[in-house]
Amino acid sequence: MRIDAEKCSGCEVCLPYCNVGAISLQDDVAVINEKVCVECWVCYRNQICPKDCFEPTPLESQGEVFKHVLSDPTITSEGTGVPGRGTEEAKTNDVTGRFPGDSYGICIDMGRPGVGAYMRDVEKVAMAVAGAGVRFASPKETPLSGLMTDIRNGKIRADFLDVHVLSVIIEGTCKREKLGPVLEALLKVEKEIDTVFSLGIVSMSVGDGDEPLLKTLQLYGMERPRRGKVNVGLGKPLYKG
Ligand code: SF4
Ligand code: SF4
Repeated sequence: MRIDAEKCSGCEVCLPYCNVGAISLQDDVAVINEKVCVECWVCYRNQICPKDCFEPTPLESQGEVFKHVLSDPTITSEGTGVPGRGTEEAKTNDVTGRFPGDSYGICIDMGRPGVGAYMRDVEKVAMAVAGAGVRFASPKETPLSGLMTDIRNGKIRADFLDVHVLSVIIEGTCKREKLGPVLEALLKVEKEIDTVFSLGIVSMSVGDGDEPLLKTLQLYGMERPRRGKVNVGLGKPLYKG
């Protein structure tokens, strides 16, 4: 995204609209820090500028396409081949069996509007949980896995590490007995990154309710979750778990 300096009056109307604080005023003209801009196009799409100064720049590198696709909710699979930011999570698990009864689904939602995420921080978290037992979703399911040089350890392509996105999801599964080490790894790595994340855990009911999961969370000092989604399993199963 760029601002036409010839037309800009320096009125500052656009500054609070930027999701990541990429717009600033320099010598009475608004400018965009391209390294910080996540190409969400909020400024352009909402026509906030009275002088019509915002102009999308061509997305030439793979990194620019990636950050636009992950940061602009009106764009879906263009450029990555995978719809949206990630998988359907638990929503279709009764049909897909993505999360079997001996495993938990792990969704780590990194960044947020107002606090984006650099891919170097995403890599730190991905590598930490991979070392603790998370196995990532396939590149066909989630765009992030397509950037990993080795899907087993979570390492991300070097040319993507400075890419800034609004948010991205690290998705995978871990065996139930590995949840403790995964939580421990997250508690450690959260102090080493310059962004925020929220953790989602997908648990298939295998007759023992949520008790083991809640006990493990408690063991690591994590509060009982206040939000949840329940899939009651009305789809036609393709898998026998
Ligand atoms: S809203 Fe438009 S004219 Fe006002 S500072 Fe921003 S770019 Fe310049
Ligand atoms: S495209 Fe998004 S991140 Fe970039 S300047 Fe506009 S609002 Fe900010």
